[in-house]
Order: sequence, then C-alpha cells, then structure tokens
Amino acid sequence: MKGSFTMEKKPVILTGDRPTGKLHIGHYVGSLRERVKLQNSGKYDPFIMIADQQALTDNARDPEKIRRSLTEVALDYLAVGIDPQKSTIFVQSQIPALAELNLYYLNLVTVARLQRNPTVKAEIQQKNFNQSIPAGFFTYPVSQAADITAFKGQIVPVGDDQEPMLEQTREIVRSFNRIYGDVLVEPQGVFPPKGQGRIPGLDGNAKMSKSLGNAIYLSDDEDTLKQKVMSMYTDPNHIHVDDPGQVEGNVVFTYLDIFDDDKDRVQELKDHYRAGGLGDVKIKRHLFDVLNEHLTPIRQRRAEFAQDIPAVYDMLALGCERANLVANQTLAEVKAAMGLNYF
Ligand code: ATP
Ligand code: MG
Repeated sequence: MKGSFTMEKKPVILTGDRPTGKLHIGHYVGSLRERVKLQNSGKYDPFIMIADQQALTDNARDPEKIRRSLTEVALDYLAVGIDPQKSTIFVQSQIPALAELNLYYLNLVTVARLQRNPTVKAEIQQKNFNQSIPAGFFTYPVSQAADITAFKGQIVPVGDDQEPMLEQTREIVRSFNRIYGDVLVEPQGVFPPKGQGRIPGLDGNAKMSKSLGNAIYLSDDEDTLKQKVMSMYTDPNHIHVDDPGQVEGNVVFTYLDIFDDDKDRVQELKDHYRAGGLGDVKIKRHLFDVLNEHLTPIRQRRAEFAQDIPAVYDMLALGCERANLVANQTLAEVKAAMGLNYF
C-alpha cells in the first residue's frame, strides 16, 4: 500500500516559445490554451522555456529584439494563465546543460536527415536564406531535442509545425539509448484539434507568425484588433454584397470556426455568405466581437503584470534555478552513460 507521504513523480511537460516578438492568437490555440489546461489538471510537472538561443539562430544580428521579446513572452504567459506556482518558467540561455547536450546529440544526426526536416525546409524558404543558412539555424531541431530530453519531457503540447521536431527528437533518443544505455525518454506531442494546429495569418498566408507580421497579438488593444480584423483577407471575388462568397480559405470564417463557440450561428453565417447578401464588413464586425471577448481578460491581466517587471524577472530567475537542477542531473547521467565521467 502506498503511504500518504509517497511523492509520486508526475509526467513532465516540456514546451516553449521563441522570444522573437509578442505571442499571438495562433500560439494561444496552437499551444498556450492546452498548456494551461494541462497545468491546471495538477497531473503534470510543466516546464515552459523561453527559447532565446533558438531565437538567435535566425536573429543573431538583432539581440536587442530577443531581449525585448523575452519580457513580452513572459508577460503573455502570465496573461493567459500560466502560473509560476504550478509551472517552471525558464530561459534557455541560462541553462548551460542544454548547449552541452546539444553538442553530444549533433553527432547522432546526419546532415542529410536535417535537410529532410520539412519544417526547417519551409522556414529556410520563408526566410529567404538561399545558400546562407546559419549553421545554428539548420541544426536547431537537435538543440530542441536537448531542451526536451534535458527535462525528460514526456508530453509536448505544440502546434502542427513541431511534429517533425518531435520525430527527430525521438530518433535521437533511440540512437542515444541504443548506443550508450537507457537514459533518455521519448516525448509525445499533444496537438490541437484538427484545423487549429496552424492557424493562417491575417493575409491568408498559411501560418500566422510573429516573424511574418501577419498576426493578431494577445496584447493588441481594441482599436488595433478592430483595424486588423477589418483588413483581413476574405474572398477576393466577393466584390458586391449580393455576390455569392466563398467560405473555404476565407480567413474570417477560419477564425470564426476556431473562436466562436456558437457553432450554429457560424453555420448560419456561412450559409448566408455562400448564398450572397452578407457583406464582409458584417462578418468582420462579428469576428471582432468574438475575438475581443476572448482577448479582453487576457489584455487586462497582462496590463496588471506589466506594472511590476522586476517581479517578472524574479519569477524567471527562480524558474531557471529549478530548471538547472533538473537539466544538470540529466547531463550528469548522459555523461556517465557515455563514459565521460573521468574524475
Ligand atoms: P517565429 O516566426 O519566430 O518562428 P512563431 O510564431 O512560429 O515565431 P514559435 O515561437 O516558433 O512561434 O512557436 C511557438 C509555438 O506556437 C509552437 O508550438 C508552434 O507550433 C505554435 N505556433 C506558432 N504559430 C502557430 C500558428 N499559426 N498556429 C498554431 N500554432 C502555432
Ligand atoms: Mg516558429
């Protein structure tokens, strides 16, 4: 029989974001919402990382942006309900064990395998790297494997673009364990419901992204939100109100599908739009109301936390302390398994 004092080790959640800007509604549905739910279930030990080193892989010349965005991302976390009492929030660059693990894992991955990673491929195109891909960027999936395995992360709530990273991490774990002995844990991704894992940008671009300037930020004020919604991509052939409109690929409806809980109403709007007689301005006004209802409490909480930035940094420092304890322990196990414990 288990005694009442048994400390059961809870499964670890590991996830994070790059501090390349403020977080947007894509992050919210793609990952943040699920994280908060898992955190509040009390069944897990969540570690949430602000990936500043990964952000530098394609922003090496703009460290100021990373520094500024670190504060923004921390505020976004607190605003959506990530609670430092329940989740360990930490900063990648402050955990030296991660870089060391990355170095060992790089030897377990081939260049050809990295070249096949579809997310990295797409991002290289998006960022117009052509032949000048920073080596650190090219290998960031390996560094991500270090981040996940350092905490023995079992559950990784992320958007769809992260599936190839998880696959690559699992391969590294299997190679490592096969060669050096059973130390690392294979992670599983937790993905959003179908259609919500990669929400499109305001411009209709396949992915809302803080680096593409096509995002609705969690911190946008009401006027900015209204202006962005009004400028959204709809159906370019829906010129007159009476014209029949297309719902597929129409970003306003994509967002309504995700954010409007009244599904019957969304269906009615779609039918009306398809038949003709429903103007873009009307559906956009409705979307604004729906989004604003979601974002108002987040915006308010964010403003409160923003009043005490030093407290936010104290919280991060504490998180880093705990993260270092765990990551150093894993690194010691890794080095021992590899026979690198000489003294
Ligand atoms: P960057 O352009 O700098 O890469 P990003 O917007 O892609 O920024 P990340 O920090 O790379 O954001 O991703 C953080 C998390 O948010 C990941 O789990 C990712 O899958 C998820 N995510 C990012 N963009 C979207 C989106 N448009 N829809 C759903 N999930 C998303
Ligand atoms: Mg990204």
